[in-house]
Amino acid sequence: MSSRLDLIAIDGPSGSGKSTTAKRTAERLGWSYLDTGAMYRATALALHRAGVELAETAQVKTILDQININQEGTSIFLDGENVSDAIRTMEINQMVTPVSADAQVREAMVRQQQRLGQRGRWVVDGRDIGTVVFPEAVSKIFLVASLRVRSERRFKELSDKGILTTLQEVAEDLERRDLADRTRAISPLRKAKDALEIDTSDRAVSEVVDLIVSHYEHCRTLP
Ligand code: C5P
Repeated sequence: MSSRLDLIAIDGPSGSGKSTTAKRTAERLGWSYLDTGAMYRATALALHRAGVELAETAQVKTILDQININQEGTSIFLDGENVSDAIRTMEINQMVTPVSADAQVREAMVRQQQRLGQRGRWVVDGRDIGTVVFPEAVSKIFLVASLRVRSERRFKELSDKGILTTLQEVAEDLERRDLADRTRAISPLRKAKDALEIDTSDRAVSEVVDLIVSHYEHCRTLP
């Protein structure tokens, strides 16, 4: 066998359906699921709470060394506190973009993600999973969807949580974050050469999961 890692990497822009399909794919295979976006969000929350700016590099390092980010099932914990809702506000949406573009932050997050996934049997979603974090993953997926569909999904998610916003505001936030993610200097969002692209706009979640699982089955038979 090659040195490939038995892992499914799912990348794509915001609202393309990564977390829902990644979660379901992990359930189907009996694997663990890692939401790397939540790790960047929890870091943004920690820096915000500590009142530390990214330019204060020594303090950022101290925070990165001190904080403890855990995922249990689909809940995210920051130093033992469940922050699953606190990291999904529009305010954190704004803050996470510069935080996730910071070299020091990325280095710490990528190291932690690689340590978690090293034994395989993980479904990992993010922006740079197939390109940077786990380039040796057996199977790589790149999800896309139209801006209209992505905005409607995010709008519904936020409304269900009682967060007041408009469809227009959500669409602008998605476009802003995607542009920043695609054009940043370090680990920009892009499709890995060997990734399968799936458009989720008009597909049911179960159909996307079927495609991901059969692609994985196919990839693992390759030399
Ligand atoms: O996936 P989610 O929208 O929760 O991610 C929040 C932000 O974290 C993204 O807008 C992106 O800037 C950043 N991110 C990243 N690399 C990852 C996952 C997320 O830069 N692997």
